Amino acid sequence: QAKTAGGNTLRFFNLEMQTRLIERANLEADLHYALARNELALHYQRQVDHQGVTVGVEALLRWNHPQRGWVPPSTFIPLAEENGLILPIGYWVLQSACEQLAAWSNQAAYRALTISVNVSSVQFQQPEFVRNLEGLLAQTQAPPGRLVLEVTESLLMHEPTRVRNTMLKLRAQGIRFAIDDFGTGYSSLSYLKRLPLDELKIDQSFVRELLMDRADAAIVDTIILLAVSLGLTVVAEGVEKKEQLDWLKGHGCYRYQGYLFGRPMPIEKLFE
Ligand code: C2E
Ligand code: MG
Ligand code: MG
Ligand code: MG
Repeated sequence: QAKTAGGNTLRFFNLEMQTRLIERANLEADLHYALARNELALHYQRQVDHQGVTVGVEALLRWNHPQRGWVPPSTFIPLAEENGLILPIGYWVLQSACEQLAAWSNQAAYRALTISVNVSSVQFQQPEFVRNLEGLLAQTQAPPGRLVLEVTESLLMHEPTRVRNTMLKLRAQGIRFAIDDFGTGYSSLSYLKRLPLDELKIDQSFVRELLMDRADAAIVDTIILLAVSLGLTVVAEGVEKKEQLDWLKGHGCYRYQGYLFGRPMPIEKLFE
């Protein structure tokens, strides 16, 4: 009896795994054509200051699959990182962001806005990364000081010397750096003093329960104090409620991103 049940469970599990593997392979095959077929889009989510004024945007990648509709980045970015497609895709993201910055630099109302771009570790560590980005800046005439590269803690821990050298070269051009999802990665904080950083982004997982969970509140409070003492800008991610905003404001965090201020959307919708 037990054996039969076990056998069935196992067979069911295998079938499900098989289906998932096939799904994955199909998705991966489609991703190869996504760029060429114009299925990728960049959406932008506003970042606001304590007065609610938009000070910048984060570029967030979207894939509009012809059959599946919108595929979330959490599904296709890990795939793209595994098979190397993140390199051309990441280049396209940077190019689009630079073109947008260049367009804004001619308009007084938008000139001061920053664009934050998520850079995958694979992309950041490729030898051509600095040259490619310098090329894009020259070609588009985008102001480098308005470009913020969002990197993760795991990148900073991985190959500290090489990563630091890359960051210093880009910093020399005026490019800024933010640590994304701060507090969810490695626990060593020593990189904070060695690297040319400008911004910490408090992960949305801490912001979500801020008002219900004392541990989350303590963590957020500490990240804010840490950022302020290091002279870094601190941005809270995932702000959805007025109460969260008030708490953050009261505890010294003056920059926010979240559905309370707007969802990620196409650029032409952002300022209409
Ligand atoms: P992330 O960089 O931490 O981006 C923030 C994510 O939180 C976005 O999810 C955004 O839509 C979502 N978000 C913003 N405000 C709220 C809110 O108030 N509540 C909730 N629940 N969520 C909110 P998204 O767009 O699905 O992106 C997921 C992740 O995919 C990003 O996390 C980033 O790590 C990655 N990603 C997105 N675009 C790119 C890209 O161009 N290149 C690379 N390498 N990674 C990207
Ligand atoms: Mg980000
Ligand atoms: Mg984040
Ligand atoms: Mg992230």
